[in-house]
Amino acid sequence: METNKNYFEEFEHIFDNEQKCIDYLYNLRWEKGWKCLRCSHNEHWKVGDMKYKCKKCGYQSTVISGTLLQRSHLPISKWLKSAWYIANETGCANALEMQNMIDLGSYHTALSVLNKLRTAISRCEKPKLKGTVIVDDVFIKSDADGFPYHTYIAVENRENEYGQICMELHSQTDYFSFIKKNIAIGSTIRTNGINIYAKVPEKYYLTLIKRKSGSKMLPLIEDVVYEILNRRLLGGRQSSCSYLNYDLCLEECCYKFNRRNKNAKFIFCEILKGMMY
Ligand SMILES: [Zn+2]
Repeated sequence: METNKNYFEEFEHIFDNEQKCIDYLYNLRWEKGWKCLRCSHNEHWKVGDMKYKCKKCGYQSTVISGTLLQRSHLPISKWLKSAWYIANETGCANALEMQNMIDLGSYHTALSVLNKLRTAISRCEKPKLKGTVIVDDVFIKSDADGFPYHTYIAVENRENEYGQICMELHSQTDYFSFIKKNIAIGSTIRTNGINIYAKVPEKYYLTLIKRKSGSKMLPLIEDVVYEILNRRLLGGRQSSCSYLNYDLCLEECCYKFNRRNKNAKFIFCEILKGMMY
């Protein structure tokens, strides 16, 4: 296993001490100025490296109070470095790799950090798919011997190209709920028309498509699944993708797929913002 990656050089350069990391988080959290968590007053005394006391009510809070990081004992630099890792990895993040590269102590800690970051990802903006959307269910194996995960998948069909995608575990939702939650009303749903796919909820339109001969999947969905596997967005890194947290893993996969044109710094910043409440 690689013990370091090039992209950390830039991280070490920008965030060369703990205080810079705290300041970065502070500015991200209070873009519009500091606010007391209890009374919303906007003036404070700094009473510790990342601790602030409200000048009006005396309430003390830290840069991580009331956020996903609350009660974390890890240095802020490790959180930032973990977010940097996720933002720079095109493939699915791996807890074991994080434990070693970011020196997170135990595998348990690394997995907990990873799942918090994935929770932050799940809070990021997720516009509903719209226009013409192909919907089906697929079995995706996390690796050759892995358990195949049965998931609903929806892919925006933009002039024979794919747009945004969305996936959810088949066992955790039903077909109509999946559509209503993830696809905008008025969209046209394209399916194979078999069984549950013969109908759509009210206010959606239905058109049918066929698989290409020799293929097990609908057009475009097949391309997306190949790209997901090629980019290792799910495949081959299942040590952090147990069935229990697979839904969070799917969140990371769709998030990265849908931001394939964004750069790592944008993703880093967006994930951290997702952690700040
Ligand atoms: Zn206050």
